[in-house]
Amino acid sequence: MRLSRYFLPVLKETPADAQIVSHRLMLRAGMIKQSSAGIYSWLPLGFKVLRKIENIVHEEQVRAGHIPMQMPTLQSADLWKESGRYDAYGEEMLRITDRHDRDMLYTPTAEELITDIFRSNVSSYKDLPLTMYQIQWKFRDEIRPRFGVMRGREFYMKDGYNFDLSKEDALHAYNRHLVSYLRTYERMGLQAIPMRADGGPIGGDYTHEFLVLAETGESEVFYDSAVTDLSFGDREIDYDSVEQCQGVLEEFTTKYARTDETHDEAVFNEVPEERRRTARGIEVGQIFYFGTKYSDALGAQVQTAEGEKVSVHMGSHGIGVSRLLGAIIEASHDDNGIIWPEGVTPFHAGIVNLKQGDAEADAACEALEKALESAGLEPLYDDRKERAGGKFATMDLIGLPWRITVGPRGLKNGVVELTSRRTGESEELAPEAAVAKLIEIYADHRVTGL
Ligand code: ATP
Ligand code: MG
Repeated sequence: MRLSRYFLPVLKETPADAQIVSHRLMLRAGMIKQSSAGIYSWLPLGFKVLRKIENIVHEEQVRAGHIPMQMPTLQSADLWKESGRYDAYGEEMLRITDRHDRDMLYTPTAEELITDIFRSNVSSYKDLPLTMYQIQWKFRDEIRPRFGVMRGREFYMKDGYNFDLSKEDALHAYNRHLVSYLRTYERMGLQAIPMRADGGPIGGDYTHEFLVLAETGESEVFYDSAVTDLSFGDREIDYDSVEQCQGVLEEFTTKYARTDETHDEAVFNEVPEERRRTARGIEVGQIFYFGTKYSDALGAQVQTAEGEKVSVHMGSHGIGVSRLLGAIIEASHDDNGIIWPEGVTPFHAGIVNLKQGDAEADAACEALEKALESAGLEPLYDDRKERAGGKFATMDLIGLPWRITVGPRGLKNGVVELTSRRTGESEELAPEAAVAKLIEIYADHRVTGL
């Protein structure tokens, strides 16, 4: 992509009404534009990152054996009346009446709709286990939308639902989700710690929230610092193996890590004092086993091998796809702007031409652009007639992890400069060597974007 042809409306001024750094940087980098309170347009750069995050979520869900599908954003209120949530949900639900005076709503979540799909089509244990998910826009009429995409009213969420014959099977689905979420966040360069959360009226131990530690997080969290040493890494996992998934759950959830809702001072005090931490975190996902709550309410039953009719055991599992952009930026930025992890960066590398219009410099930039593109990488070539300082500032602000700087002086010696956004370190390389190095760096981060 040539910057001269792209739409990147960066802001020079820091937006006054944005309270936290990720919101400020997303506005300044021309990623989003507010359309009304808590509702945003996703401008090209923001949309690109959103798609990358979405694609990682898809890849990891499919890897875990979960099936993608899509449900509508506008739903009839009927199913919600049947489950009892139409009245219970409160003012966060956006209620709409259509021209025939029918009650509709903009989906805040989709347990009812998916359970209806299930009960209309599945009647035998032979069709279980089944986990389906979607990535779809949600609407919650939050009383205080704030922090940009972090707490929006319209937001993009992955919601998955498992249907199982027994509690035991449903807990395996729960564990599978935990494992797939660990992988998902790590691929985005994030550490998201599963913490025991509040099961609400249903109670029980079967819900975990995934939290990214950040000062600006809305949740207060308490944990044993040893949990921050855990990482899933590149280990192989067999998602069908009950033992393996259970093992990962135990490894990641045995040490103390809880949100304030479930925090227990007495248990916390058993953690050695030097490892006790109180901090703030951003909730980027939650997994939940809730038994037969919705299958009882909506009559989702299957026949067992013995011919008995039983309610299916269910769980639901969410990832805050649009919130993740904010969380990643909170975790990865400096005074000059965003620092994208390789897994989600909108472009793989920036090319900065120090002397636009110089035949040799232009040709070298174009050759680099071609070489990267034919290797399946996406460069952003700043081909504008601007001062070098301005070009560097833009690249730093939008956070591409690698920058190739091309100028007549370097070209005389046959070199360009490859700079890491994270460390600021530069090295001089032949253009082909710079391309080879980027190919190697991105070998483990192949996510397609748009
Ligand atoms: P919160 O406690 O932050 O209001 P929640 O627990 O109500 O969130 P869930 O129903 O668990 O949210 O939704 C799954 C995920 O969707 C959350 O973990 C979060 O990452 C994301 N999410 C929820 N509400 C919003 C919102 N208003 N804006 C952006 N993302 C959100
Ligand atoms: Mg939640």
